[in-house]
Amino acid sequence: MPRCPVCNAKLAGATSCRRCGCDLSLTEQARRQARQALSRALQAWRNNQTEDAHAWLKQALMWDSSELTIKVASFIKTRLSLS
Ligand SMILES: [Zn+2]
Repeated sequence: MPRCPVCNAKLAGATSCRRCGCDLSLTEQARRQARQALSRALQAWRNNQTEDAHAWLKQALMWDSSELTIKVASFIKTRLSLS
């Protein structure tokens, strides 16, 4: 996460913001969970397990609603609808 979502200070990889003191470790954990869920969605799609893929996408979006997660989930959903 390059910037603090609260005050927009640069984070430089820190898990807490030096400007406002916001603890971002839970946010980072949620993003990791989301990335893992996206990875599992891709694996499920490759294995033609469409229902599982949709379930993992739902999990990913529950963990993280960042623009990147939304775009990757949308990309996978498009592939699922084509298969
Ligand atoms: Zn901050």
